[in-house]
Amino acid sequence: MRFRSVTIHPEVKNTKIARRLGQSDISSQGPRLSDYRQGKRHLFVAPKRGELFHICASLDPRYICCSTHVISQISNCPFECTYCFLQNYLTDTTLTVVADTKAIIREIREKTSVQPWRLFRIGTWELGDSLAVPPLNHVAVELVEEFKDLRNCILKLRTKGGFVEPLLDIDHGGRTVVSWTLNPPQVIAKEEIGTASLDNRLRAMELVSKSGYPVGLHFDPMILFPGWQRAYEELVRSVFSAIDPENCIWISIGSLRFNPEMKKKIENNYPSSRITAQEMVLGNDNKFRYLRPVREEMYSFLLKCLKDAGAEKCFTYLCMERWNVWENVFGWCPSSIGHLDYLMADSVQRRFPKTAPTEPQKEMYMALTYE
Ligand code: SF4
Repeated sequence: MRFRSVTIHPEVKNTKIARRLGQSDISSQGPRLSDYRQGKRHLFVAPKRGELFHICASLDPRYICCSTHVISQISNCPFECTYCFLQNYLTDTTLTVVADTKAIIREIREKTSVQPWRLFRIGTWELGDSLAVPPLNHVAVELVEEFKDLRNCILKLRTKGGFVEPLLDIDHGGRTVVSWTLNPPQVIAKEEIGTASLDNRLRAMELVSKSGYPVGLHFDPMILFPGWQRAYEELVRSVFSAIDPENCIWISIGSLRFNPEMKKKIENNYPSSRITAQEMVLGNDNKFRYLRPVREEMYSFLLKCLKDAGAEKCFTYLCMERWNVWENVFGWCPSSIGHLDYLMADSVQRRFPKTAPTEPQKEMYMALTYE
């Protein structure tokens, strides 16, 4: 993909990324576009301002959350998913990437050293896609190389892209998880505009897996359409023909959700999409979701497909669901967000000791509180 303009802030003009981009405008400000789609075509390479490391903004103590941490390094995304919350969120829409990797790592070191016993899972996808296009994947390479020396941290790159070549021949030390958001080809074609095809995602997944990266899978958002069962069944089958379940570190499952303002945006921006036409219910977090029995049926079905594909040892969890949904799908549920955090750390430590060398202490995780 070619950007219509590339602007580099003078403070980061000597970074590797800026040099790689070559001839660009040098200015302390990007084009400042309010249109969400236009902003995707303009790139601003920025210095670090303020704190970028924090817990996921979606964490809500009324739901069981995985309490991942994020670095807000990327803002906006060249892809265009009809359900993307960014269309109702960004005010300055220019695709912005913070190039100052060393400063980001300093902040992470400082904040994670306060809890040396804890395993921090840290994503770069909060407001965009970690690997969509160059130079995002080149910025990711710099982070991968830094994370290999951060003992209690895992870098989580998450994408719907297929361009992973820059990651393949570098020393990642097992501390980076490369993850894909997955949907059947019918959904990709209609609702995930501009993203890599399923075949390209699977090819990329196979490549990173062969390079020793643990792979994460996110079946989220699952979307209802006629024939969804067969489509998701085939999806799971093709994923585990591409990679060995032994190399899959975790799997999350979730379903379509959006707030009422987003619903209007989707209908205006993507009038041919039918994703808002299903019967949905508004939750306490002001988000529409499919009715609970429907969600439970979808999750249980996917879980069965995963078992049939031999992926039962991969740590599998639900995203943004309540205790009762967990009970009905898995037959058990974590007692708290801290408990889920512990269970994930424990699974990673047992299955991927290079990624998490220290045995997690349950009581420390159980004492974590969230407001
Ligand atoms: S890949 Fe993610 S960030 Fe990019 S448009 Fe799709 S949902 Fe939004």
